[in-house]
Amino acid sequence: MVATLWMYAKGSNVLKLQQLLNKNNAMPKLVEDGDFGRNTYNAVTIFQRINGLNDDGIVGPKTWRKLGGLDPVISSPSSSSAGSSGSVGGSNSTTTGSNGTVAETNEGFCFPFPRLPGQSWLNGGRQFGAPRDRGARRHAGCDLIFPEGTLIYAVADGVRVHDQWPFYSGTSAVSIRHGNILVRYGEIANGSYIGGAIVTKGQVIAKVGRLDSGRSMLHLEIYTNAASSAELSIRGERGGPYRRRADLTNPAPYLDVWKNILPNP
Ligand SMILES: [Zn+2]
Repeated sequence: MVATLWMYAKGSNVLKLQQLLNKNNAMPKLVEDGDFGRNTYNAVTIFQRINGLNDDGIVGPKTWRKLGGLDPVISSPSSSSAGSSGSVGGSNSTTTGSNGTVAETNEGFCFPFPRLPGQSWLNGGRQFGAPRDRGARRHAGCDLIFPEGTLIYAVADGVRVHDQWPFYSGTSAVSIRHGNILVRYGEIANGSYIGGAIVTKGQVIAKVGRLDSGRSMLHLEIYTNAASSAELSIRGERGGPYRRRADLTNPAPYLDVWKNILPNP
């Protein structure tokens, strides 16, 4: 088995990664502390670029192989991973499908607003799975209703995967990998993303946009295979009723935990 690692992972597999990067002449030389921070991220992307790999900063089987690392054995999830980035790091993220359970994402996350919306995201057209286009497809996220221009906060430390792009009805979206899950922040105001390539939990990243209909909200989608950088939206029947990548999941159980942890305005 191969441990897939990315930013904010911690532990012995990260230590091994840093040792291998240093052996491969990482510049500047990395501190071998088992903490996948910005310097390690930069070293990984440079190594990937030099070796003709996709420079996404994710250390998967191809990158391990090029580094000359034996496949590291997955250590059991450490209970010593206290702190906001423990479970966010995904050092226990593997190809076994254990990614992104609510329990794993509880730690180090917060709600994307400093207050809760007046209307629940659990019913009406706001809920995940609500019919759209007269039942032809289903709602792929939860809608958090707030006025246009309301500030949106990063739900955890993370790395941007897709920069803002035109999304729906005159708004934009951006997607960010937060540890084991990927969050798409949809229906944000065009050009409002200010989070940069790397965000921290509770940081203001964007503003709520305004649909052509005049309504405004954050449309939040969650994907459980954070390591994938494949397209999230899939047109037509191939994308199933949600017209989305297969690892789309219902954000409600996550929001139910995060609503108890509000970011500081
Ligand atoms: Zn929506």
